[in-house]
Amino acid sequence: MRLIMLGAPGAGKGTQAKKIAEKYSIPHISTGDIFRANIKNGTELGKKAKTYMDQGLLVPDELVCDLVVDRVGQPDCEKGYVLDGFPRTIPQAESLDAALKAVGSKIDYAIDVDVPDENIISRMSGRRACLKCGATYHLKYAAPKKEGVCDTCGEALVLREDDKPETVQKRLNVYHEQTQPLIDYYTKAEILVTVDGTKDMEEVFQAITEILDK
Ligand SMILES: [Zn+2]
Repeated sequence: MRLIMLGAPGAGKGTQAKKIAEKYSIPHISTGDIFRANIKNGTELGKKAKTYMDQGLLVPDELVCDLVVDRVGQPDCEKGYVLDGFPRTIPQAESLDAALKAVGSKIDYAIDVDVPDENIISRMSGRRACLKCGATYHLKYAAPKKEGVCDTCGEALVLREDDKPETVQKRLNVYHEQTQPLIDYYTKAEILVTVDGTKDMEEVFQAITEILDK
């Protein structure tokens, strides 16, 4: 079961990816983890990636793809894997497909955890953070005992810049621009699965497993 996760930042795709990985005993793979592991182990690909990163440059698609293909070719991926955060663009998706095809493999499903922007913005705007001790709260899901005050240290809670509606909307715009073409790409390939991400985390997970267990 070789899977790709799609979903806007804040849609909860990381959580779902983790749950899928656990249930089906397959690795949850993020590009960040792959970079770190290769650099730490001083592999050839890691060294190449590091030369770009040290210059503050983006690692080219082809190299990212080589790293991903190398990772999914390891023994723990024999039963499958969940790719989280890759591919993000059409060129990345195309190079991934080509690289997998070259080793006789392919992606089985691209799972899109779909949540309307309004829902994400409203979820995020309920977040509160304590800048002193780092504790985080949510007005609806994890409210502090006393309104506006940190349970742990008593500091006033704030809505972080990152969680403000206008910041979140900007991030979502970038996401849609990059990802809509991917959604079209995987729709054409007939492997796109869309699940309603506005539902409760367990319900979303159930919807995904129903498809995967078919
Ligand atoms: Zn605090």
